[in-house]
Amino acid sequence: MAADSIEDAVGDLADAVLAADSVVALTGAGLSTASGIPDFRSEGGVWDSHDPADFQYARFQADPAGFWTDRLSLHETLHEDAVGPNAGHRALADLEAAGHLEALVTQNVDGLHREAGSDRVIRLHGTGAEVECTDCNRRQAAAPVRQRAANGELPPRCGHCEGVLKPAVVLFGESLPQGALHRARERVREADLLLAAGTSLTVEPAASLPRLAATGGATVAVVNLESTRISERAAVDLRADVTEVLPALVAALD
Ligand code: ZN
Repeated sequence: MAADSIEDAVGDLADAVLAADSVVALTGAGLSTASGIPDFRSEGGVWDSHDPADFQYARFQADPAGFWTDRLSLHETLHEDAVGPNAGHRALADLEAAGHLEALVTQNVDGLHREAGSDRVIRLHGTGAEVECTDCNRRQAAAPVRQRAANGELPPRCGHCEGVLKPAVVLFGESLPQGALHRARERVREADLLLAAGTSLTVEPAASLPRLAATGGATVAVVNLESTRISERAAVDLRADVTEVLPALVAALD
């Protein structure tokens, strides 16, 4: 069903939120681009200036020092400008605070949902805000470790066991954190409404979550600038900016 106007579609979305006992949001890169974090896959995106092969898990294992050098360069590209949560992040935090959001499943690793105040975040691809020891699995904040690497400690090592530290994000070729994936699927199965916002739904496992929701009888709503592969079948399909639609949704619920 295509709504005649954005206002109508936001109204439909608000009705769906109010009718649902359990709403789960699913977010991706489209939410972060509005905060100035460049998209990876699009033309002119991060992979035009960096080689994805350098960020493979196998490369990290074979050459952690070289990996960290490239990682620092990638981080500079991603965070050229000081980035912070945008109106879309804040609206999702508001939805949760108002008791409308059961869980927020994200493909993003930038930590902006937490920064905006969301607590019920399930991170499918880990977080760039922390690093993890590859031996003892202890975690610590990433920023001081990046600084140590920039100062020449390559690769940076764990203060407890001297193990090599790895960003706590899922690298290409690395398996997903199974706990997070399991929790995400559980929440989605129980949901009455799945709200996919700012994700093109092309990357697994996020791509299959809307189907899982629909199989369980949930309403699926999509807010994305471009069409996604489930847009045609979505009850609400909003081709619009998440930073406009999500705050409008919060306002409509007030
Ligand atoms: Zn360790």
